[in-house]
Amino acid sequence: MRYEGVLTKMRTEIVDEVQYYLIWEKDFINFNQLIDKKISLNFLRYQCLNCGLEKKIYRQGFCFDCFTSIPQAGDWVIKPELSRAHLDEEDRDLEYEKKAQLQPHVVYLANSSDVKVGVTRRSQIPTRWIDQGAHEAIEIVEVPNRYLAGITEVALKDHVSDKTNWRKMLTNDILDLNLEEEREKLKQYIPEEAREYYLASNKETEIKFPVRKFPEKVKSLNLIKNPYYEGILKGIKGQYLIFDDGTVFNVRSNEGLVVELKVLV
Ligand SMILES: [Zn+2]
Repeated sequence: MRYEGVLTKMRTEIVDEVQYYLIWEKDFINFNQLIDKKISLNFLRYQCLNCGLEKKIYRQGFCFDCFTSIPQAGDWVIKPELSRAHLDEEDRDLEYEKKAQLQPHVVYLANSSDVKVGVTRRSQIPTRWIDQGAHEAIEIVEVPNRYLAGITEVALKDHVSDKTNWRKMLTNDILDLNLEEEREKLKQYIPEEAREYYLASNKETEIKFPVRKFPEKVKSLNLIKNPYYEGILKGIKGQYLIFDDGTVFNVRSNEGLVVELKVLV
């Protein structure tokens, strides 16, 4: 079997274990079915996810010109506290920003290696948690816009990490924690404006990833420097493909790369 197309982040659904799909233009792959098979990846060229041109990818699957001009890549995407649409103030495209920012957002705790705090749109739960490789997660507040979620995250960051240790996540060096207790401890630090949105009774969500063997040590595959790789797929966690020899490949951070994927045996 041979596929060719531009990488975009894997789509997911929870059916006992998470199911992973790579969507091509005319086709899709269910990665779960490729576990224990030998596959190859071959980097062919770039293709910006916005303009479609063969230009070097800068960030988030976009070329530099797109990344620095389109509303989907404004600073408020990574830093929700910079959101301004609730004040009717434009960053790059007010209509787009209103649609994206003025909708329910959740501040959550996710445990993928250590507990971290994060922000996402309500509609992105549990997708966001799966993408981070969290084996457990819980909502803290659900607020009406991105700005409120952002300032809550900033306040909580002083007391809990906002980063994932991806090496620990991929070697399964993880702890099972009581996130309801962690949430309770953080409650006092929620800013005044967001306090009324505290979710006291939501339960922890547990997520099971399809991994048959965790590596002891991981090395990240850089397909731009080493355009060809082949190996036996042992599992998928977060947005990472995990191979038998400890190689891991982050599909999401390689968005915009056109690759050839072959199933060898
Ligand atoms: Zn572009």
